[in-house]
Amino acid sequence: MKNILLLFALVSVLLFGITTYRNYKKEKPLVVIMMGAPGVGKGTHSLELSKALNLPHISTGDLFRENIKNETELGKIAKELIDKGQLVPDNIVVEMLFNHINNNGYNVTGYILDGFPRTLIQAKSLDQRLGNNYNKIALNLNVDEEKLIQRITGRLICKSCQTPFHKINIPPKIEGKCDKCESDLYQREDDTKEVLKNRLEVYNKNTKPLIDYYRNNNILKDIDSNGSKEVVLENILKSIKQNKNQ
Ligand SMILES: [Zn+2]
Repeated sequence: MKNILLLFALVSVLLFGITTYRNYKKEKPLVVIMMGAPGVGKGTHSLELSKALNLPHISTGDLFRENIKNETELGKIAKELIDKGQLVPDNIVVEMLFNHINNNGYNVTGYILDGFPRTLIQAKSLDQRLGNNYNKIALNLNVDEEKLIQRITGRLICKSCQTPFHKINIPPKIEGKCDKCESDLYQREDDTKEVLKNRLEVYNKNTKPLIDYYRNNNILKDIDSNGSKEVVLENILKSIKQNKNQ
């Protein structure tokens, strides 16, 4: 009898140990927050990362347009505010986002956020919803200002089919003419150095509290995004791996 009890106790301890170890090893779903100034290629890098990690990419801009187009309850509220020239309040943005996440089961897989959070309130409500059940990382994509200026001020667009070109990066075969339809190319009026510098200033001012918040939470990673999309993806994957090992 004594032996049986001892055996029972031993097995219990062993099972408890294995379960604890398994839970400890079990990876939490990953939530990636993409950040970066206009022109750094957040959308492109998000898509590349989405393919590499097989994680859904959620662009809140697209989500908004979809809700408005499909005339969902939240979409109607948002449209009314936008038509009046008002900002859509944080709680509506958050609700729209989490409806989308839960309806698609992304709360189980994890996801990449592009365009959210934009404010400190949004960041805090994201944290509240995620709790301790997720691995979080905020990627701050950085491109040298000179390079950003070169990217933006070199942009050319076809007047009739809207195909984008670039004076240096994607030059048209015939100068000033579209490769596809031979119409004239033009430069958007706000693709100038002055406008860009202004936009960067506004961006930096608005985003600073968010950057500080994530830096203080130890989940911010600065990503050198000057290279090709392959190189940038490599930098991103390295940072995510480091973050996991922390
Ligand atoms: Zn064209």
